[in-house]
This record gives sequence, C-alpha cells and structure tokens, in this order.
Amino acid sequence: MATVFRELLLLINNAKIGVNPPKKPFNNIFGNAKGVTIPANKTIYLNPKNTPTEKINNLIHELGHVQLHTNTNQPKTSLLIEELQANLISYFIVIVKNYGIDNHN
Ligand SMILES: [Zn+2]
Repeated sequence: MATVFRELLLLINNAKIGVNPPKKPFNNIFGNAKGVTIPANKTIYLNPKNTPTEKINNLIHELGHVQLHTNTNQPKTSLLIEELQANLISYFIVIVKNYGIDNHN
C-alpha cells in the first residue's frame, strides 16, 4: 500500500502538482474532507487522518480534480458533476496504470 502511494506521489511530483501538508491543522481549514484540491496553485491537501487506503483513493481522486478542474479558462460546472468527473478520471488512471495500457496516442 505504501509503495502505491509513493509511486503516485512520484507521478504527481513529475507533473509539477503539489501535495502539501497544510500550514494550519487540516480540519481547521477543510473540516472533515478526505482531500482537497486548490485549483489556483494545483495543490492537493490530504487529511492526515486518512487510512492508507483513503490516502491512495483520495490522492487519485484529487489528481482527477487537478487534471480537469484547474483550468480557469473553462466554464465552471456544478460540484456534483465535478465530483463525478474526478471519480471517473481516477478510475481511468488506476485501470491504465494497473494494466499497463499505453494511452499516449
Ligand atoms: Zn472531489
């Protein structure tokens, strides 16, 4: 589990996406969220109380938000649609990585 998380962090760091601990306690800023993406600086914050599985799930989910929802030139959509899109892209990332599918065409 820790290896998967480290590999994801490498992938994310190579894409110049920040995964930072917040400067204040996470819950004071983001409440009970498992993870949050700040679009303006493409930074992901994960709740330090997440279980190992939650860390991975939420890191991939937030990566989906970074990929889809950090372009300020695109029209804003509803939160519900953004959550669905982030989940869909996170499943896509997992499947492509798990099965070694080359999606660069
Ligand atoms: Zn989300």
